[in-house]
Amino acid sequence: MGLKIWLDDKLVNQEDAKVSVFDHGLLYGDGVFEGIRVYGGKIFEHDAHLERLYKSAKVIRLTIPMDLPTLKKAVEETVRANQITDGYIRLVVTRGVGDLGLNPFLCKRACVIIIADKIRLYPAELYEKGLKVISVPTIRNHPMSIPPQVKSLNYLNNIFAKIEAVDAGASEAILYSHDGYVAEASGDNIFIVSEGTLYTPPVQAGSLDGITRRVVIKLAREERIPIIEKNLTRFDLYTADEFFLTGTAAEVIGVVEMDGRIIGDGKPGPITRRLREKFYAYAHA
Ligand code: PMP
Repeated sequence: MGLKIWLDDKLVNQEDAKVSVFDHGLLYGDGVFEGIRVYGGKIFEHDAHLERLYKSAKVIRLTIPMDLPTLKKAVEETVRANQITDGYIRLVVTRGVGDLGLNPFLCKRACVIIIADKIRLYPAELYEKGLKVISVPTIRNHPMSIPPQVKSLNYLNNIFAKIEAVDAGASEAILYSHDGYVAEASGDNIFIVSEGTLYTPPVQAGSLDGITRRVVIKLAREERIPIIEKNLTRFDLYTADEFFLTGTAAEVIGVVEMDGRIIGDGKPGPITRRLREKFYAYAHA
């Protein structure tokens, strides 16, 4: 049975969920999106995701054609219609239909798409064993280009990095900022542990303001694990005792090898495992 997809202002059958070839989301990657989890029938950090979406839209001068409470109801309705209790929501707002030119203001109305489906996760054994990652030559978008805090439909920067990681046989790519500081992975934020303290780069180093990152910082504070946001270099990652990534799909996942260096003792460390457990409990509470 096909899914029910939210398109513009109502639910339609999957086979009828179609957008125009003149949509600037397709022609130019012009639009914004969110990826959101559903745990035990509850939409995880729903408000935070929607607030980030509206901020992304504001930065690219995109008017979402409904207010936040109305969009929130549409997301809830889509989850309900597809009977998703544990899954993943893809919320997309494209610039809408325009002509073949760049001018976004010639597009009449933004298009809202909500897909609620099951989720495919990293295999369970990767959470036990940890990931291998590499530094990639592609740098993260410069903040004076598309600000990395905007979750836009234009993901080629991240896709370049992902290609470089896949070519090298690594699970994830580590991207640096234009001035050589650690920014983020292609689809996740970065944390390390060094001498019992948790470190993560500030968002301004060139990352998305990850919702999972925010939750992990909050949980670390509750656990009385010291947490410092500061610029990190390759040196800091190579010499960390523990290293993990956070993101909506991955949740909290350990990294055990980077650029041929073994991280810590080559296994996901105790603070990584503790925060992963805390995150699981928080998400399912
Ligand atoms: N950085 C990038 C580039 C991302 O696409 C994502 C989302 N997959 C993240 C970080 C993590 O953000 P969140 O925890 O909100 O999913």
